[in-house]
Amino acid sequence: MHVLIVGGGVVGLACAHALADRGAEVTVCEAGTLGGGSSGRAAGGIRTQFSTRVNVELSLSSIPVWESFDDEFGVDIDYRRPGYLFLARTEETAAAFRKNVEMQTDAGAPSRLLDPDEAREYVPELRTEQFVAATYSPADGIADPHSAVQGYVEAVRSMGGDIRSNTPVTGLSREGEDSDSDGEGWRVETPDETIEVDAVVCAAGAWTKRVAALADIDLPIAPRRRQIAVVEPDGDLPEDAPLTIDLDTGSYFRPERDDTAIVGGHFAEEDPDVDPDRFDESMDIEWAVEATERANDCAAYFGPETKIRNGWAGLYAVTPDHHAILDEVAPGFVVAAGFSGHGFQHAPATGEAVADRCLGENECEVDVSALSAARFESGETLTEQNVA
Ligand SMILES: Cc1cc2nc3c(=O)[nH]c(=O)nc-3n(C[C@H](O)[C@H](O)[C@H](O)COP(=O)(O)OP(=O)(O)OC[C@H]3O[C@@H](n4cnc5c(N)ncnc54)[C@H](O)[C@@H]3O)c2cc1C
Repeated sequence: MHVLIVGGGVVGLACAHALADRGAEVTVCEAGTLGGGSSGRAAGGIRTQFSTRVNVELSLSSIPVWESFDDEFGVDIDYRRPGYLFLARTEETAAAFRKNVEMQTDAGAPSRLLDPDEAREYVPELRTEQFVAATYSPADGIADPHSAVQGYVEAVRSMGGDIRSNTPVTGLSREGEDSDSDGEGWRVETPDETIEVDAVVCAAGAWTKRVAALADIDLPIAPRRRQIAVVEPDGDLPEDAPLTIDLDTGSYFRPERDDTAIVGGHFAEEDPDVDPDRFDESMDIEWAVEATERANDCAAYFGPETKIRNGWAGLYAVTPDHHAILDEVAPGFVVAAGFSGHGFQHAPATGEAVADRCLGENECEVDVSALSAARFESGETLTEQNVA
């Protein structure tokens, strides 16, 4: 079985790894540099605190891979677990927190509901008066996406996988479509050659709609610009403070190395599509000022003396219900995209689910049937409340 993966980000590489590990021949075609898409721009967050079971299970199934990555892949991904702290300002959000914690613990995640004063144990300068509830999970943490990409690349190559950078896929057709043959595979065009394979995995992140269109497949995945700022807090943010999300405003922060912190969030009402080949990759300073002020409104670490050091923008690949599409959308054409901001952390389990689809196996412990593309036509969409 020869599978060609379109996209050399963390998702495509995790798919290549799972497939090669099960004996498939793999070719990865990456238009630019490996990890040079959204994977190299992620905040590295890995959490179990989602509001749908499938997202929680994708995390729970991926975490053992992150835990043992150093041993298994020989690359240190700097995996740390300071936890995630979610904060609610409204009773409606607090009610959702109660439901979510029940579901998360039932799935096996060690989440806990806290009152705002208890949350101070993790974030001492939290401005508790404006919050009504919090949730915390010690299973949640962060890792370095660049190193994860590097680990996957080396492992896939060591298993004989063919990984090509600067190799855009420019055409996709079913074998037999434009000839008299009745083959069942796919013909993949790059500027240099045509490659005939048994199956294609589309893991092109924010470019997925364009890549799928090459095969005449329409997918509801839109590129959305998201920013991160690295700041020097003026308060004493503990090094082991959790990634803290003020869910009702979308603002978040977490400590970073060398006494810096990351602040983020998306505050614009309008969220226009952007051209993934021509978007502004730099951080807007007005946005960074607002993100810092919002972080300071949540916890007193980011006052007027806070320095904004640098930052960047990248793309989320967003579906209408903020869940990925993990599905064989045409015979031999499997999509793993639309992670809506969670693709780094879900990459290992996604690789297993995709390998199942390609090879007709049933190894992945997560039931991903809820992530079919057909849900957008049938109306059986999901709702993820914990979106940041
Ligand atoms: C600011 C920001 C913060 C984030 N924080 C987190 C986080 O904390 N935790 C988390 O889990 N996720 C986070 N994400 C989301 C995460 O980055 C993505 O979900 C994840 O990287 C998706 O990986 P991917 O491999 O699908 O996409 P990508 O890394 O974008 O890879 C897709 C690749 O496809 C390639 N490609 C496109 N067209 C073609 C073509 N025609 N032929 C060949 N290749 C092609 C692109 O060049 C690209 O490299 C964040 C994203 C951003 C922007």
